Amino acid sequence: MKLSIFKIVLWFLFSSYVIGSSIKVISSGQSNVELLKIMIHENQIYCSLNELSRILKCNMYHTKERAKMVLYIKNRRIKVSSFSSFVAVDDQMYQMLSPSVNINSDIHIPADDFLGILKSSLFPGLVFDTKNNFLKINENKFNVNKIEIDEKANGTILYIKTRKKFPEGHISAFKNKNGWFYVTIKGGTLDSKIIEKTYTRGSIRKITADQLEESAQLAFKLRSEIAGHELYQTNDPSEIVITLRTPIENDIHINSMKDLWFLDTIVLDAGHGGKDSGTIGKQGTKEKDITLDITKRLGSLIEKNTRIKTYYTREEDIFIPLLERTQFANEKTGKLFISIHANANHNRKVSGFETYLLRPGKTEDAISVASRENSVINLEEHNKNSYKKLEGTNLIMATMAQSMFMKESEDLASLIQVEIGKRIQSKNRGVKQAGFYVLVGASMPNVLVEVGYLSNRKEEKLLLKKSYRQKIAEGIYEAIIQFKRSKEEILAKG
Ligand SMILES: [Zn+2]
Repeated sequence: MKLSIFKIVLWFLFSSYVIGSSIKVISSGQSNVELLKIMIHENQIYCSLNELSRILKCNMYHTKERAKMVLYIKNRRIKVSSFSSFVAVDDQMYQMLSPSVNINSDIHIPADDFLGILKSSLFPGLVFDTKNNFLKINENKFNVNKIEIDEKANGTILYIKTRKKFPEGHISAFKNKNGWFYVTIKGGTLDSKIIEKTYTRGSIRKITADQLEESAQLAFKLRSEIAGHELYQTNDPSEIVITLRTPIENDIHINSMKDLWFLDTIVLDAGHGGKDSGTIGKQGTKEKDITLDITKRLGSLIEKNTRIKTYYTREEDIFIPLLERTQFANEKTGKLFISIHANANHNRKVSGFETYLLRPGKTEDAISVASRENSVINLEEHNKNSYKKLEGTNLIMATMAQSMFMKESEDLASLIQVEIGKRIQSKNRGVKQAGFYVLVGASMPNVLVEVGYLSNRKEEKLLLKKSYRQKIAEGIYEAIIQFKRSKEEILAKG
């Protein structure tokens, strides 16, 4: 006690501090501006903890000798001691550049440092602007709010609830050797207290959440081995979805694995057919005719030049429900499933070819292509009800069931884009992803190729040319050959 008084006296003697200034405090959801009293000491702004607790509307506790003060904010304890530069937020220690001081039984802290600690641990929306003399308190500025864990037969799904969509490449995930799975979100600000309270299950034993300078880091302690993961963002609700796949039984013999991957059977799916024409061009060109023709050209290239068995979901102008197409492919134990379509857009200027993977749609365009292709289920009077709405969890589950083939599907899709691109002048629109019913349930790598836009006058004309359709078929064929070759190289090494 004596020592503290001595220190206070010293401080009064040697400091050059100015009393009487204040800064404006603007709180979200509050119209009136409050004033926070401050003082200047050695060119630094100090404010009292009593003042701050009033402004932050939080409870505060003094030790008897007033040498320590504890603030309770959002269920967390912030402990500050007199004449110390250390601040404890729960068990985490932070250090300020200058120590706190004790004046009139009230601890005064260097405002910039202390508010910086509050910002990184509790109030990401805090702005302390010393130039313009204001403090802005935005509540609920966390953009990573909550995690939900769902346990499924073939793995665990993590739903990381976010306030916004993060740019591509700002989210990364990896598993380390010691059984932790890390997710780093650049620009992420998280409510670690709530996140660490997440009810864990499935492959997840424990979660820790760390707010780093420029990113949020989540660490998941794994209870069991995972075979791989898939990561994507959805818009509504806004979340990052990560699927952690359970490994397939270890006792599957390596040879049967080789059998599973050896590319000896392909199932080709000509889009639409019969009463379902698909899209129709200005000149009356029907998608179902274009897709059947290209499919047959592709099939005959495979049959002529390779020993791969080729099956067709249709070889005539007949109607086949979407579900039956992948069922057929599974029955034939296909090692690849390729669905061929032609595209349409209300904007007739849009043209080009693109290849799709089954995954939650990323862009509005991709989603609208999928909904157009999916609309055929309305023609399937008898089994309309067999289709679960292909969005949200249903789509995630469908994707997850396929995730063991996803890498292969991606490889094939990019090969197809490259090889078609080498042969035709049309615009390469790249590999995209969306929810297509026709790909759901395929137990093999699978893609959907949109060969061009019948809604585009020029492209419709091109697609009417045999030579153009042949070039597209040759592009897909070459992609299949390269895909097969690269897989066999990997099998040979294994
Ligand atoms: Zn189609």
